[in-house]
Amino acid sequence: MPEAILLRGGRVVDPAAGRDEVADVGVAEGRIVPPDALPAGALELDCSGLVIAPGLVDPHTHLRQPGGEDAETVETGCRAAALGGYTAVAPMANTDPVADDAAVIREVIDLAAAAGLCDVYPVGAVTRGLAGEDLAELGEMVEAGVRVFSDDGRVVANPQLLRNALTYALAFGEVAIAEHCEDPALSEGGQMHEGQHSAVLGLQGKPRESEEIVVARDLALARLTGGRLHLLHLSSAGSVEMVRRAKAEGLRVTAEVTPHHLVFTDADLVTYDTNLKVNPPLRTAEDRAALRRGLADGTIDVIGTDHAPHPVERKEVEFDQAAPGTIGLETALAAVLTELVEPGELSLLRAIEAMSTAPARLLGAADHGGPIEPGRPAMLVAFDPAATWVVEPPFASRSRNSAFIGRTLRGRVVHTIYRGELVVADGKAER
Ligand SMILES: [Zn+2]
Repeated sequence: MPEAILLRGGRVVDPAAGRDEVADVGVAEGRIVPPDALPAGALELDCSGLVIAPGLVDPHTHLRQPGGEDAETVETGCRAAALGGYTAVAPMANTDPVADDAAVIREVIDLAAAAGLCDVYPVGAVTRGLAGEDLAELGEMVEAGVRVFSDDGRVVANPQLLRNALTYALAFGEVAIAEHCEDPALSEGGQMHEGQHSAVLGLQGKPRESEEIVVARDLALARLTGGRLHLLHLSSAGSVEMVRRAKAEGLRVTAEVTPHHLVFTDADLVTYDTNLKVNPPLRTAEDRAALRRGLADGTIDVIGTDHAPHPVERKEVEFDQAAPGTIGLETALAAVLTELVEPGELSLLRAIEAMSTAPARLLGAADHGGPIEPGRPAMLVAFDPAATWVVEPPFASRSRNSAFIGRTLRGRVVHTIYRGELVVADGKAER
């Protein structure tokens, strides 16, 4: 590993500094340094034609360890993340055992430290065992470093319990409760979005209302408590509009969208591709357009992959038997560049903000998200916005259930620098 690196001639896109210009960037001893302060013999990387940005931060990842190592481990997930340009990811709590106490949180942090590929900011469970009955040990997990709590995969169905969680979290400062907005009764048995396409395909649907009812309820509880609410993977136009109004009102709410909800619609399910079976389901072109507008205007704050690895036996089955979810760490940046930035629907600066600066703020990940300034920890990605590639297995992820298989994407990660070290060089993982 070189002690020092000079990234020469790249386009530096740094939302935290409001900066978009061609410049050299120096890295030494784990930190950003002025290029003229680099020691002799620094490794020089020609970055002309590349974009240099703060390392990406994924606020919504499933690393599956402990308990689901047949689908992913912390190490394989972190390698997928590094190859996707991420320097930090937030693994969700729905592991086995559930991350509902400090011991599991520390285990995941230690596994990531041993892998040395990216930082993890584990999300703690809101309720013990994700059972929705009693609050988990929030205080103990905050001490272990947790800043976001979620029962993702399930909604906190009991409104009194969510009220207590939002109120209790206030005692810890900038701690957010992140909700998977889905009414379990309304979506029971649903395989896809309920609409014209579900009728034609003969699959049971999940109506938009199963999400919107929970979004409305949760915003009311955020108003009641003054607590900090984060809404995961929004899928419907109505949800976006409610968040827009809540923000205008001054509620402390943030929202997320996934790359797959920004790219696909329920019409794509005509192939019965189980990799497009996700939760919440892909909705209509109007919903997708509202998600894109909400992301562009800042109503939706962050892009989270909801990277959800599954072993083949849970995906290569009949549609109604398949587990919901797609992997996403290795394709997220290219999907956003191809589908939103390239057509001019989203500025590159806003894309990087939503994939790095804003999620770093949500997670309290002070080392991440920029600015790219001397003295800051060197967390960087360099990508080629013009390189095209076809998504196909194998992946660095242990799983292969990608909704993007077969798609041609534009934009490829070339280098990822994590704590000053090149963990991905020329598109290949170094460890
Ligand atoms: Zn979820």
